[in-house]
Amino acid sequence: MQKGTIGVTTENIFPVIKKFLYSDHEIFLRELVSNAVDATQKIRTLASFGEYKGELGKLDVRVTIDKEAGTLTVSDHGIGMTADDINKYINQIAFSGAEEFLEKYKDNANSIIGHFGLGFYSAFMVAKKVEIRSLSYKEGAEAVRWECDGSPEYTMEPTDKTERGTDIILYIDDDNKEFLEQSRIDALLRKYCRFLPVPVISGKEQEWKDGKMVDTDRDKVINSTEPIWMKKPADLTREDYLKFYQDLYPGQEEPLFWIHLNVDYPFTLTGILFFPKIKNNFEITKNRIQLYCNQVFVTDSVEGVVPEFLMLLQGVIDSPDIPLNVSRSYLQSDSSVKKISTYITKKVSARLDELFKESRQDFEAKWDDIKIFIQYGMLTDTKFCDAAMNFCLLKDVQGKYFTIDEYKKLIEPEQTDKDGNIIFLYATDREAQYNYIQSAESRGYNVLIMDGQLDNHFVGLLEQKIEKSRFVRVDSDVIDNLIVKDNRKEADLTPLQRNIMTSLFRSQLPKMQNAQFLVTFEALSANDAPIVITLNEFMRRMKDMAAMQPGMDIYGNLPDNYNLVVNTEHPLIVRLRDESQNNLGDQVSPLEKKIDDSNSLITELRAAIKDGKPTAEQEKQQQELEADVAKARADEEKIIADYAVNTPLVSQLIDLALLGNGLLKGEALSKFIRRSVDLL
Ligand code: ADP
Repeated sequence: MQKGTIGVTTENIFPVIKKFLYSDHEIFLRELVSNAVDATQKIRTLASFGEYKGELGKLDVRVTIDKEAGTLTVSDHGIGMTADDINKYINQIAFSGAEEFLEKYKDNANSIIGHFGLGFYSAFMVAKKVEIRSLSYKEGAEAVRWECDGSPEYTMEPTDKTERGTDIILYIDDDNKEFLEQSRIDALLRKYCRFLPVPVISGKEQEWKDGKMVDTDRDKVINSTEPIWMKKPADLTREDYLKFYQDLYPGQEEPLFWIHLNVDYPFTLTGILFFPKIKNNFEITKNRIQLYCNQVFVTDSVEGVVPEFLMLLQGVIDSPDIPLNVSRSYLQSDSSVKKISTYITKKVSARLDELFKESRQDFEAKWDDIKIFIQYGMLTDTKFCDAAMNFCLLKDVQGKYFTIDEYKKLIEPEQTDKDGNIIFLYATDREAQYNYIQSAESRGYNVLIMDGQLDNHFVGLLEQKIEKSRFVRVDSDVIDNLIVKDNRKEADLTPLQRNIMTSLFRSQLPKMQNAQFLVTFEALSANDAPIVITLNEFMRRMKDMAAMQPGMDIYGNLPDNYNLVVNTEHPLIVRLRDESQNNLGDQVSPLEKKIDDSNSLITELRAAIKDGKPTAEQEKQQQELEADVAKARADEEKIIADYAVNTPLVSQLIDLALLGNGLLKGEALSKFIRRSVDLL
């Protein structure tokens, strides 16, 4: 019997392994099964080169639990190991600066294990004793038994194993009894070993018998050894992809389409990415793409490997070239990872472009589902954005789709303003903004529908990308102000009429929390509404953004600033203008005169004050004049307000406009209804 000390420079590696690798205990199983699979593939290769001439026999890997003995065994029929092999591969662990390294990566068992080729030793994370029984494929090889109890001392001796291959027997320690449960082991194998290229057997298939599940005598194979991503796309049908998708993500709706990745230069990568149906409930569900390394599951957190916006996809990526066993920050700066990420982005945009060209109709049908994903990509990845400008679609309120170029050409003739800007009109709610859409369409304009969760940001991006373009929501101003043409007509009001009308409407505006109104006048068309309420585009965008981003509450808390735009061309307004002037002119004119006179006196007085220091006399005079103005103004407003109260048309017009914007609520709404009935 050989006794020895395991060749590590650090005094005692096992406590270190146990102590630091706590977070990912379960990966020991992946390591041991991968080793078994490697050994199996090696014997296959040797046989195919004629270097092994014996029977290959059954080449599966078996995971067996013996609850009574407290052991978990991983067995293979691979190349096996001689005592020399064990000395070389197991007893000598190349290890330097171990402690320092462990300290640095203590939260990432993956990096430690990968870095030092410590795969086998991960067994000590869960076992108090590990035994190897192995018979090498080499002619005349002697079976060998190795044992180690977690101290650096091991023993090695000949044994009586007659079958080629290796058994790794773990005496599971008390803290890790869970790994003696068949269900736990099966779950782990399904997670890590589901697509390994050699059959992995764990326990028996079960069946329902006499009211409970019982073992049959059929082996339970955990994995599918030829996952479809390893096959050629030409050999696969649509059903194959859909079935694979269902296997990976049971119960999910059918994906929209998929991309089969396949490169071997300058790096090796295969995989399939699915575009899931995300629709509008925009939850960034990351960690859905699974990362494999030669069919061994490694992780489903692919940050760094896959560009951010592609995390919305699902599927698998398999590459031996991704340095999986290093920390995330390293991963992100690794140049081959960057290449991979760029490659994937390119493939995705090329595939989308292809789908778009193949069938525009089909692409349009899927657009609403993929839009959020494409917009996210365009907003976060400039290369993707440039490519996507060709197939990114815009949808108008009638449900028609256009490419950005097509749309620009469509609206350019009518929707270019006097300064040469192309004005893109959009609505976010077809119903609520119906009136505004109507008035835009009545001028021959087209209105886009931008009701997606990212449209707010996306509009800003398009403004940058499309030269001389501006995006404005249809209700952000009256239509003739949104697209200002040369032949714009001014509101036709005398100063007296303007003052009367302003007070008339202002006096009847409902008091609303968090809303402010400014009365303005515009000469719209006689066919437009008499009153239009608009919401400033800039302020609205700010508030919308604030709603999506915490920490921008200064905008969020500001009141909504509405314009109450009075259409001076509308017959009802013309009537109101003339009637109010007829009825109020005699009372208001003298007051207006008084205000004007007092104001000119104030101006004169100010001019007379030297060095900013008024005399007591001047100060008194000024105060009296200001009081005169205030009084005259108050009188005037009172007269106009009284008149407004008795002129239901004023309130009625305001309420109709508020109603059109969904702003008429509560008491104001019930007053409106009563008044409407009275008027009838
Ligand atoms: P790695 O697999 O990263 O090389 P391990 O510690 O897991 O590191 O294994 C060390 C070596 O031991 C392997 O490279 C292989 O040569 C040998 N080995 C481990 N398990 C087996 C096995 N089941 N059959 C044959 N050889 C094995």
